Amino acid sequence: MSALNVDVAIVGGGFGGSLLALALRRAGLRVALIDRGRHPRFVIGESSTPIANLVLKDLCREYDLPNVAPLAKYGTWQATHPQLVSGIKRGFSYFHHEAGQPFVADAKHSTELLVAASSSEQHSDTHWLRQDVDAFLFREAGAAGAICFEQCEVGEIEPVVGHVFNVPLKHRHVENVPHELRTRFVVDGSGEGRFLAQRLGIEDRTHELRTNSRTVFAHFANVTRWKRCLESRGIDTAEHPFDCDHAALHHVFDGGWMWQLRFNDETVSAGFVQDLNRSERPNLSAAAEWESWLRRFPAIREQFANANVVRPEGGLRSTGRLQRKLAHVVGGWWAMLPNTAGFIDALHSSGIAHTLCGIERLARILIRSLGRDDLESQLREYEHCVLAEVEMIDLLVSGCFAAMGDFRRFATATMLYFAAATSYERARLASGGEFRPAFLLANDEQWFVVVRRMCDRLYEARSIEQFEREMVEAIRPFNVVGLCDPNLRNMYRHSALPEN
Ligand SMILES: Cc1cc2nc3c(=O)[nH]c(=O)nc-3n(C[C@H](O)[C@H](O)[C@H](O)COP(=O)(O)OP(=O)(O)OC[C@H]3O[C@@H](n4cnc5c(N)ncnc54)[C@H](O)[C@@H]3O)c2cc1C
Repeated sequence: MSALNVDVAIVGGGFGGSLLALALRRAGLRVALIDRGRHPRFVIGESSTPIANLVLKDLCREYDLPNVAPLAKYGTWQATHPQLVSGIKRGFSYFHHEAGQPFVADAKHSTELLVAASSSEQHSDTHWLRQDVDAFLFREAGAAGAICFEQCEVGEIEPVVGHVFNVPLKHRHVENVPHELRTRFVVDGSGEGRFLAQRLGIEDRTHELRTNSRTVFAHFANVTRWKRCLESRGIDTAEHPFDCDHAALHHVFDGGWMWQLRFNDETVSAGFVQDLNRSERPNLSAAAEWESWLRRFPAIREQFANANVVRPEGGLRSTGRLQRKLAHVVGGWWAMLPNTAGFIDALHSSGIAHTLCGIERLARILIRSLGRDDLESQLREYEHCVLAEVEMIDLLVSGCFAAMGDFRRFATATMLYFAAATSYERARLASGGEFRPAFLLANDEQWFVVVRRMCDRLYEARSIEQFEREMVEAIRPFNVVGLCDPNLRNMYRHSALPEN
């Protein structure tokens, strides 16, 4: 039996665990990265945002990661790593559907909302084919000196002496993996695996969340472009600020929504999300449920008329409730990455950016404070921030869910998310690298008050006109890109992040 000594053991080698490992290695810490699976493997959660790319770029600068840096923009990604499948994401597009009806549009775009995120293809955000990106980052972590284990289970973690812990490892198939790993700190990046929550019996607080949703999803080939569907129905797309398929495309309807993310290999990640606050999970197989959604929405059915599932290997996947929130995010010798501590929903693509913000904060804490007296207080601050971010995302997303049946109300509710995101982006750009605010301004008390109030007003406001007027006033201090402008008729071009 051999023992390995490291400073930080990271459980979970998704992109989050691997990027943290890379940052810590560059700062000279000894790192082990352990995953129970094996790369490349299918993962859902693919659409990046301007915030994600700003943070990724800063992480690459701070920790000198020239191989990873090109992934922060579509143009540099294509030039440097074309073998890693990605897709162009110029922004967010939303389309309203009525069950049993064809999709209709009008000159006011009252059933459409397009919000630009990037100003050109070159500088655009991306969809990440996660199996490619995660495998790449895992390899990069190994190349930087992290000791990487795949197909490894972690046993009971026990204190050895002082601040050193024993992390027993058991490889699923190979005998000669060290059975003992000794570490000073453990990071849980296991996501829904909830590794530490299970080991330490950490209280589950999911019941506190407002959002209550689930999904059925897969990757498909032969999905007709939505733009083509619109044009074949004579719907003019000339006023769209970007190609609506080069986006996180959302089909929105009473009781749920659907995401579509198109990759360069012409496959599409797609999933129907059901609002469990409005209806119960159907007692159907994933395939039968998928068909039942398509039957309800004829325009989407048309888009999928020739589609076939290409990933994951087992076909369509169906989930229970997606949300999670834990009572604690840190302890004296451990911390969780954001996606392990809490997750809300795919709406508005907040997950990758949230994870990256957490990596940025946690890496600095571990590099500066591991082994020092202020570690615990730093970790408490991190915990406070991550939980506030989870609460903020929950408010922003649940407000939109509540309005999904009424597109005008829904479009107004999304303005809260876009105000938070664009304010954060601009503040970060202006800060020149030393940026402190929490993701989506979750540490800004004034902003929290606005979001909580407007989520309540969503139900209370007498009319949509009144709700819209109140929204304009409420977000005014945070409205840096001209949101809530009726003259733009739901077509937001100037929300795109300035080139940087
Ligand atoms: C349906 C859905 C759609 C989403 N869409 C988007 C989107 O469009 N945009 C976006 O930004 N975010 C999205 N997300 C969120 C996004 O998936 C997460 O933010 C992201 O996966 C976080 O990455 P991670 O590396 O922290 O965790 P994960 O990707 O969850 O990786 C966790 C890793 O830990 C490993 N693991 C688990 N348990 C153990 C264990 N006990 N021991 C060892 N290893 C373990 C797993 O094998 C895995 O490799 C979505 C999430 C869902 C559920």
